[in-house]
Amino acid sequence: MEKQRLWDETWLQFADMMAERHSKCASKSVACVIVKDEKPISIGLNGTPSGHTNCNEIFLKRDDGFYKRAEYVRDETIDLMEPAVQLVHEGVTFVKCHDPYEHHNWSKQHEIHAEINAIGKLAADSTNAFGATAYVTHSPCHACSLALIASRVARVVYAVGYEHGDGLDLMRESGIEVVHMPLEKSYKNTL
Ligand SMILES: [Zn+2]
Ligand SMILES: [Zn+2]
Repeated sequence: MEKQRLWDETWLQFADMMAERHSKCASKSVACVIVKDEKPISIGLNGTPSGHTNCNEIFLKRDDGFYKRAEYVRDETIDLMEPAVQLVHEGVTFVKCHDPYEHHNWSKQHEIHAEINAIGKLAADSTNAFGATAYVTHSPCHACSLALIASRVARVVYAVGYEHGDGLDLMRESGIEVVHMPLEKSYKNTL
């Protein structure tokens, strides 16, 4: 495997591990690692701002959809004709969400995407993403693609095509090299 590809895969695996282990979103685990001059200069995860209640403290995802922690369910959203579907997870009661978009709508208002978190952290110190590579577990959405263009990254490497990942063409048109690299879930050297 050529050197560039080996490093791309290494940083993307790193992003994937960060996401799987540390994202606190009940729906999707996303991470963005920005690498410049062979150094990681910023790491962002999807989630609420620090100090705010995490998504996975409110929502739980199961095969049949999302559940919401009982204390956060407002009375008017409970259908009195139908008994609420409940489950107990680690001693906490969760109620099945009737609306399949309940997490999606809540997330849009409360959770910051991984790319924005990574770029935002750079804005808080003296480093910048000019010419860097952004390694993202999921292809960036439109808003994050615009932010990556504005931050002047040179390359974006992603593992999974995200259903709202419509920013890829936009980034390519702006001169960013976009690489799709599906990951094998193993860290064996494939040289
Ligand atoms: Zn979430
Ligand atoms: Zn996004």
